[in-house]
Amino acid sequence: MKTVWFDRHPDLALSDDVDLEGLRPETVVVGAGLTGLAIGVLLARSGQDVVILEYQRLGGVTTGHTTAKLSLLQGSQFSTILERHSPEMLAAYLEANREGQAWLRRFMDEKGVEYQVRDAWTYATTEKGLKELEAEHEACRQVGLAVEMAEPTELPFEVAGALRLPDQLQIDPLLVLDALRAQFVEHGGVLVEGVRVTDATSGQPVEVTTSRGKLTAREVILATGAPFLDRGGHFAKLVPQRSYVTMHKPAGAIPQGMYLSIDAPTRSLRTVETPEGQLLMVGGNGHVTGRTDRESEAVDSLEAWTKEHFPGAEMTHSWSAQDYEPHDTLPFAGPLPGGGGAIYAATGFPSTRPTTPSPSAGTSSGSAFSSAATQSFANSPATPTVFLTTCATVPSFNERLFSASAQAICPPRSCWLRFSAAATALAIPHLL
Ligand SMILES: Cc1cc2nc3c(=O)[nH]c(=O)nc-3n(C[C@H](O)[C@H](O)[C@H](O)COP(=O)(O)OP(=O)(O)OC[C@H]3O[C@@H](n4cnc5c(N)ncnc54)[C@H](O)[C@@H]3O)c2cc1C
Repeated sequence: MKTVWFDRHPDLALSDDVDLEGLRPETVVVGAGLTGLAIGVLLARSGQDVVILEYQRLGGVTTGHTTAKLSLLQGSQFSTILERHSPEMLAAYLEANREGQAWLRRFMDEKGVEYQVRDAWTYATTEKGLKELEAEHEACRQVGLAVEMAEPTELPFEVAGALRLPDQLQIDPLLVLDALRAQFVEHGGVLVEGVRVTDATSGQPVEVTTSRGKLTAREVILATGAPFLDRGGHFAKLVPQRSYVTMHKPAGAIPQGMYLSIDAPTRSLRTVETPEGQLLMVGGNGHVTGRTDRESEAVDSLEAWTKEHFPGAEMTHSWSAQDYEPHDTLPFAGPLPGGGGAIYAATGFPSTRPTTPSPSAGTSSGSAFSSAATQSFANSPATPTVFLTTCATVPSFNERLFSASAQAICPPRSCWLRFSAAATALAIPHLL
């Protein structure tokens, strides 16, 4: 089924047909999701000659299938990061997210893109969840994120506890992408949809092979979800996760805040504004991609849960989508190993995860590496501000786009250094 976002915007224009053969832009960005378009806009605004190449259409893979919350409160992400990294790293993560959220909010304000300001909530329904909630509260407190323990009054069921962060945003991802596209083009950028990039050399200039011919560029940025070039070995560092989203026409009052359960199976709630009135979005039931043969049951259980708690609600849409959990809780953004310093990638921006596999969504009984990684990223959140993290970690973009303070928030290359260690541990010699 179509997502509510594509259903609402059937008339989004496709890009012009452009002859790629022989083009020589300074930068080619591969992928027109939120990551690729935001990077493209920042570079084009700085005066660079940029081409974005997209296999499908704008937002066609993950961004146009998300729950589209732009929140700094992210389930148990902060405490999960703190289990593995220093408080300084967590503070850098928060700062990058804050900057990115502020950047996108300013952009939406300037362009008149509609969004809603809401309280974000993470709630627990079990004693175990409450302990995790307390750990999250403490982690947020350590880095100065002003969350508070509060009683949600809108949920139609008992909770053991909840954290609240006011002044967060819920967006329509396609409206945002469309506005980014318009600004990208306004600044001379070229966006081409329906073209697959199949290879990029490591020399200078980089030769980019596509399904519609070759072009060259000084730099290439992979903003493709998981990087499709295997030089970075991301297949060993990312766990693909599929999760499910349903939309419902409510029969009565629905919560106006954005809610996320800390207990499994995950439940993610928000409203979606439509001309016919508000709809209720309910997401969750994630699992490692491919590790279930009962995908339809994941949707059925979301529908049943919604009917139980919001009697009379009628399901209008359902879909699933995939994202990629990084093995050490932090996104990767920087030069691709083996890319000759001219190929960059930005990846590892997951949404929410259940702490244990949901009964309806199969089990994660894979390799020791992937199940360990899955567990370690329990409830890891979306990183709504992917673009800023990306740009702040790509050194050559730093010089052109960001102030020294922005550069300081994400130590360049640290992610890749950690990866080298992981690759050694996994004994994959050709990656080193
Ligand atoms: C169900 C779900 C809900 C989510 N909810 C949220 C949320 O509420 N808030 C949040 O911040 N995050 C959320 N996320 C996380 C989400 O993944 C990221 O926030 C973000 O949308 C990822 O954007 P992206 O641009 O990196 O990837 P994508 O949107 O997937 O864009 C990558 C693009 O690259 C293109 N591409 C791939 N390979 C090639 C190729 N070889 N050649 C040309 N093009 C190619 C694809 O067609 C695609 O359009 C959610 C994820 C899921 C799965």
